[in-house]
Amino acid sequence: MRMVITVLAMAATIAVALACTSQPDAAAAPQPSAADTAVATAQDEVLQVVTTVSPITSIVENIGGTRIRLQGIVPEGVNSHTFEPAPSVATVLANADLVILNGLFLEEPTLELAEANLKSGAAIVSLGDESIGRDQWKFDFSFPEAQGYPNPHLWPDPILALRYAEVVRQTLSDRDAENGDYYAANYDAFAARIAILDGAIKTAVATVPPPNRKLLTYHDSWAYFADRYGMTVIGAVHPSDFSEPSAQEVAGLIEQIRDAGIPAIFGSNVFPSDVMRVIADESGAAYIDDLSDDDLPGKPGDALHSYLGLVVNNLRIMIPALGGDAAALDAVDVGPVFDGPATAGYPQ
Ligand SMILES: [Zn+2]
Repeated sequence: MRMVITVLAMAATIAVALACTSQPDAAAAPQPSAADTAVATAQDEVLQVVTTVSPITSIVENIGGTRIRLQGIVPEGVNSHTFEPAPSVATVLANADLVILNGLFLEEPTLELAEANLKSGAAIVSLGDESIGRDQWKFDFSFPEAQGYPNPHLWPDPILALRYAEVVRQTLSDRDAENGDYYAANYDAFAARIAILDGAIKTAVATVPPPNRKLLTYHDSWAYFADRYGMTVIGAVHPSDFSEPSAQEVAGLIEQIRDAGIPAIFGSNVFPSDVMRVIADESGAAYIDDLSDDDLPGKPGDALHSYLGLVVNNLRIMIPALGGDAAALDAVDVGPVFDGPATAGYPQ
């Protein structure tokens, strides 16, 4: 009863949100024999979920499936570390029942805007903070311990991404117990995919000659992944303030790559870097500039445009460049785990 009262109290706000999105699945709505208020309540109870970066949007979509309304807010192709939401995003955040973000200081301006606009009874969930404790935080060149902000890129490690999914499942079930079995089934299906992905990554990394299992990237998204799969991050080129590294730092990296005989170094489209080009030219390594930490491959609606697709696509780029064989990744189904149309809204 308390839920009904709360829902009715929020109905005006949610009605505005629903007006901007598609209506719930007709099959999920109560029969007309129920009281009109009950019909309205059931529709209004569809959780409005807002997420930040696209990998998180995809993970939440896999668990929430067709039973939630989902909108991401960080457009692909932008630097998520410096992203400032437009004032208009405040309306989207104000309509959310749940704002699910990475946390670990990745999306501070969005977090502030969410806190300022959160409606009564809504909650903010920081997946990174829920998934690991401070004792598991990693610090490095781009995220130095002295500044106190850990490397926030947990999701390139699929086992930590599964932990995100577990937090999502629990959060959705707590808010919407009626669909708890549905969220649990989606979680189980996602966990099965992650198990296949994890095995495929281990197989693929094992084909890389051991001396080549080293990563030099522009943007250090690989700290947790590398530890998981026995690779070494020998450095990242961008300092925490996104300035260019010093001449000495560049010279040091060139020497390291030459000494180790690393065949390739990696950048991303979001962070074009002349310095990486120079390091590659001087060291003799190939410069591969299309790894991604939060841009999903393909377009919304493509199977590959998903969290699982992101990991598979990155490894199909990384593993051959280091002298290995990525064929094991072909075993991973990267499409949604639930039946029905895709539900995530990806901002462009
Ligand atoms: Zn990043």
